[in-house]
Amino acid sequence: MSSPGLPTHLDGFPASDGIALGRVRRVDWRVPEAPRATVRRGARRRELDRLEEALRRARAELEEIKGRTEARLGTVEARIFDPQILMLEDPEVVEGTKRYISENRVTAARAFEWRMLELTELWARTSHTMVLDRLNDLHDVKLRVLGRLLGLPSPWDLEDAVDAVIVARDLTPSFVARLDPERASGLATDTGSRAAHWAILARSMEIPAVVGLGDVFDRTRDGQTIIVDGRSGHVVIDPGEVEAQRFEQRRTRISGWTRRVPEGVPAAAVTLDDAAVTLRANLDLPGEARRARELGAQGVGLFRTEFLAVGRRAGPGEEEQYRAYSAVAETFPSDAVLIRIFDLGGDKFPLFLRMPAEGNPFLGRRGVRVCRDEPGLFLTQLRAILRATVHGDVRVMVPLVNTTEELAAFRELLGAAKEQLQGEGVPFRDDVKVGAMIETPAAALAAAELAAASDFLSIGTNDLVQYALAVDRTNTGLAHLFDPFHPAVPRLVAQVAEAGRSAGIEVSACGEMAAQPAGAVLLAGLGVDSLSVAWPSLPEITNLIRGSRMRDMCEAAAAAVGASGSADLRRALERPLAGPPDQGLSSRDP
Ligand code: PEP
Ligand code: MG
Repeated sequence: MSSPGLPTHLDGFPASDGIALGRVRRVDWRVPEAPRATVRRGARRRELDRLEEALRRARAELEEIKGRTEARLGTVEARIFDPQILMLEDPEVVEGTKRYISENRVTAARAFEWRMLELTELWARTSHTMVLDRLNDLHDVKLRVLGRLLGLPSPWDLEDAVDAVIVARDLTPSFVARLDPERASGLATDTGSRAAHWAILARSMEIPAVVGLGDVFDRTRDGQTIIVDGRSGHVVIDPGEVEAQRFEQRRTRISGWTRRVPEGVPAAAVTLDDAAVTLRANLDLPGEARRARELGAQGVGLFRTEFLAVGRRAGPGEEEQYRAYSAVAETFPSDAVLIRIFDLGGDKFPLFLRMPAEGNPFLGRRGVRVCRDEPGLFLTQLRAILRATVHGDVRVMVPLVNTTEELAAFRELLGAAKEQLQGEGVPFRDDVKVGAMIETPAAALAAAELAAASDFLSIGTNDLVQYALAVDRTNTGLAHLFDPFHPAVPRLVAQVAEAGRSAGIEVSACGEMAAQPAGAVLLAGLGVDSLSVAWPSLPEITNLIRGSRMRDMCEAAAAAVGASGSADLRRALERPLAGPPDQGLSSRDP
């Protein structure tokens, strides 16, 4: 626990944009151990019935949460609960538990607890990171069913909460789906990842969240003041009055910009000295497109498509994908929509792929590398993307590219998809643009070659920072070392921007860095043509660009490239941020 009165600063990973300032509400969702009781031979039937009943009720509850989520957020968001509903019918779960009841004569609660423990261990061993998300679903189910079998009250009753920042070891989708953003203003957890289902829901619900804080749960107590900055991943427990005020002012300014957006946008983000910077949105789900447009996005700079694959038992069909892609394209009929092909591996493993366990998944089969192993999956996706090209300026983006050979192989697959559609007489745009994501130092250093083989480049700063600094972006113990302002980063970005300029193609940047004011200044100043940010950040970054001079940003970026360290670099970026308070950002802003 932090010392009373003294502020504690913690670094985690940004999971949902926005700033929350509120009172800690700790949520502990561990279930107590089931009592160690055996049951009489004749009572087995009763325990089996109790299990059936608990599973039935759990299913009904989940269906209800799913229905409410669908009404509140949309169909795709609601599907987040499908894996849990399936788990309640999964023979691995159900038959395994029944066997324990019958063979070991234990209560339904004890048998279910054992089986859950066993599955947790089994899944945690087999393929590591993605399973974290599946495990998170499993824990959610465990809590629900065991809670019922043990007759526990819901640990998540937040009726009395006001402006609460939920602090937990981890959260679950069903918990987050029930939150009222009026009562729960932010989320902070010890573990978890940006890709977790509950984090996706938090983004859709516009609740700021930071994950991977390590020990925020043990450091806090109910009622403490806490700041959660979901854009930078920074959390302050017990901030001093001055610091709290600074965040509060900042929060007020951001909400002011957001409220004013409908009148001011979609005017382009043009600097005071008349340089245009295209601002696009990053989307995780198709339903977010409308909100992004309302907030002034000039298209979509990154549409992550993994939501269609992760947590599914079968690969997504072409029609479902086509609907998702064309819905986004139709929301932006005259702007670019950059659809990234499934970026699987790393921390995202769909169940249906049965990818082998790897010692180092982030250095393993990931991104474009998976295309070679799963051509069928990607052929279907490319057919769906190609079909969506008739609805707008849809482009295809390829993650984790290192070599031109990888791009050539990808283009071959795209060619095969085109040939199929042509043969079937299905319309599509033959001139669809293909871009490489620059996410490794190797790709940045070979940007000239990759640019020659691409129609555009997009810098994935999250991965670029991870690989440049050799800091695992999901390792909660290393969050403080994950520094987008290490001097190596602008030097790599500068090379990519230069390669794009020489080749005459657009260079964009997506990833959390572009959503931080200093990051946006750096990227724009280095000559990145288009910034793509988490959509809630659009008003702030639009406002920043409009209140700055490109000349200042370029000067600051040049100084950043020559900076001797992170602190020096951040100082170099301060000047363009010191505009009038409602145009640029005050240099005193957090
Ligand atoms: C990135 O790496 O910066 C990026 C935008 O992609 P993701 O975060 O999905 O890996
Ligand atoms: Mg990436």
